[in-house]
Amino acid sequence: MIAEVIVDIATSETDRIFDYLCDGDTVVGSRVRAPFGGKTVPGFVMKIKEKSEVPFEKLKKVIPCPDELPAINGECLALAEKITARYRVPKALTLRLFLPSEMRTGKVRELTRNYAELLVPILEMKLSKTAKNQAGAAEYLAKNGKSDCALVNNLFPGGIAGLEKKGYVKITQEQILRDPYKSVEGENAVRTLTDDQNRAVQTIQTDARTVQLLHGVTGSGKTEIYLTLIAKCLKEGKSSIFLVPEISLTPQMLAQLRARFGKNAAILHSGLSAGERFDEWWRLRTGEAKIAIGARSAIFAPLENIGVIIVDEEHDSSYASETAPRYNTFDVAYLRAKRNGCKLVLGSATPSVETYKRAKEGEFSLIRLEKRVNERPLPEIIISDMRREVRRGNNSAFSFALKEELEKCLSAGKQAILFLNRRGYSQTVICKECGYVAKCEACDVSLTYHRDEDCLKCHYCGAKYSMLSACPECGGIKLSYAGTGTQRIVAELQKLYPTARILRMDNDTTSGKEGHYKILKTFADKKADILVGTQMIAKGHDFPSVTLVGILDADMSLHFSDYRSRERTFQLITQVAGRSGRAEEKGKVVLQTFDPENEVLRFATRYDYLGFYENEISLRAAMLFPPFTKIVRILVTGEDEKKTLEGLKEVYFAMKELYERNAEKFLFFDKMHAPIKRIQNKYRYQVLSRISDTSILPEIYALCAEARTREVLVSVEENPSNLS
Ligand code: ADP
Ligand code: ZN
Repeated sequence: MIAEVIVDIATSETDRIFDYLCDGDTVVGSRVRAPFGGKTVPGFVMKIKEKSEVPFEKLKKVIPCPDELPAINGECLALAEKITARYRVPKALTLRLFLPSEMRTGKVRELTRNYAELLVPILEMKLSKTAKNQAGAAEYLAKNGKSDCALVNNLFPGGIAGLEKKGYVKITQEQILRDPYKSVEGENAVRTLTDDQNRAVQTIQTDARTVQLLHGVTGSGKTEIYLTLIAKCLKEGKSSIFLVPEISLTPQMLAQLRARFGKNAAILHSGLSAGERFDEWWRLRTGEAKIAIGARSAIFAPLENIGVIIVDEEHDSSYASETAPRYNTFDVAYLRAKRNGCKLVLGSATPSVETYKRAKEGEFSLIRLEKRVNERPLPEIIISDMRREVRRGNNSAFSFALKEELEKCLSAGKQAILFLNRRGYSQTVICKECGYVAKCEACDVSLTYHRDEDCLKCHYCGAKYSMLSACPECGGIKLSYAGTGTQRIVAELQKLYPTARILRMDNDTTSGKEGHYKILKTFADKKADILVGTQMIAKGHDFPSVTLVGILDADMSLHFSDYRSRERTFQLITQVAGRSGRAEEKGKVVLQTFDPENEVLRFATRYDYLGFYENEISLRAAMLFPPFTKIVRILVTGEDEKKTLEGLKEVYFAMKELYERNAEKFLFFDKMHAPIKRIQNKYRYQVLSRISDTSILPEIYALCAEARTREVLVSVEENPSNLS
């Protein structure tokens, strides 16, 4: 038989598919090792066929890998085909989504452990008097039976090796699966569902539509509904996929999932090592685990017979991939749901305008949960007019109202969350004499001062520069720190409340294996009083002791020149406010703004999603913005400025040609610099268009695939959530 094998998928940007000879029992989707240019490289069987165009004597034979199962199941292969065709990317790129990195590179580490057991009773051993460790090890094994060599070696170094030489012990190797959640504990608190929750579960199970939108205010018990749906599937022997924004995999959430589903759940999150991820993935592939839980990439989980797919916080921007293939998680989830004949449940307190429109028009089912569990009230939102604060001589980052509430909260022994969507100490460093602004050498952006490291950092490439003592342009020494970041907030808070225990959570404090997990755990264990953070603290967390939330700069996201900035502001405020008062105690929120009359803020403080939606959708309709049209950005990037410009020209002329043939389908179309002209030494240009008819999308993808070269990357983004 002949196998079409895709090789080198770990690094290749192109498809390298070759014919090989294979055994008759080789299956599609399985892993092989293929002779290639004098080496053997890992590959995957994409297709089995009878004949090859290549002359027989030139065909080489692949070596099968002894896996119990092909790495990629039939459904995933079919899905990969669809994604490849939809986004016009090489198969190799798509396949990467379906395989853990260790498997792609062929470096699967099977974790094994050595065990020793005695072959000879101690009394029959001939040990020299000085070999104390051998005697110790022998006694240990006699007493405890077969034991982990590493453990015994710790107690009696070299003991086992000595015994083995004499033939007194046998050493065996056994495979162990890493258990990343050994230390995660939680109670399995299965709750009786409220009437609202029961009704939601009923509807989701019986409504005929594939997509079910669960629109429930924060704290309305959506999580409990998801868990019930998953448990029902498990009972029927079906598998489930549960997607959350990465950051929602909080300590409590992990504990809850572990307690509820034990080893039936494979929880994939960024805190896991590559080996641990691989093991979790493999447990899903073999069917040992039936529930895949994780961020957007978990939509590619190697499951069969899926009973439900859940996307929590469906409006979250993390569901759009920003690397090729730039897939949309919803589209992939929909394909899988259709194929498995199961429901796709989208949950949010603030659904995206696009999703809500489709639900309102009846394409999706719409389920509302209007109250918090046990009728707990939503927190009261107090607006602080910062213009007035300035007039009253308050130039600090905190309004009088916020300070007052903070004091009350702290003295009552409760916890507070302060939200500011800007990390670092100050946003920019400006020379007061000449106006010079410190900028990154590799990117076209200003640098942020970080006080803890006393350096300037680029938030786009991570580069660090030493802090300036004088202006490099004019030599002036009057440098001003403009714009407040989270570090500065913490410093000022600590001055105001010297005894308060303050935690900071942003991109700078959450790197490393445990990342945000540790910070959230500390806060959940009430080892801190105030949590200061960027938008990563807004999502999904359930801290019962939090009774105060401060939103320090509610206007910040309003002023982006992006059609979604109002929507994002509304979502952010609702989400952050939703962290307050989730248990018995009533919560409060202080919202600081320079624009208290702003209608988006007004809707948000009244928790009026419907009002906001109606207002927003009519604006979008009037301005012909999505969801009434589609914004398509073609991003052309490369290190060589000339070649990148040539790439841009090629794309532009191809688009122009398409435009001239289909002018009625375009509302707008132009080429320009991307808002940030350079990131990590790569020049960035874009062709921006707004289209009213998506039937030309395949042609746009095709012309971009055509223009892509080794040096110039051309990518297509539909309604991009990040327009930098
Ligand atoms: P959401 O995901 O909608 O924001 P959660 O699922 O986090 O809401 O629920 C909010 C709080 O209510 C949580 O503390 C949760 O433990 C609790 N809760 C949810 N459902 C029930 C129930 N049926 N009975 C008692 N408490 C519940
Ligand atoms: Zn940079």
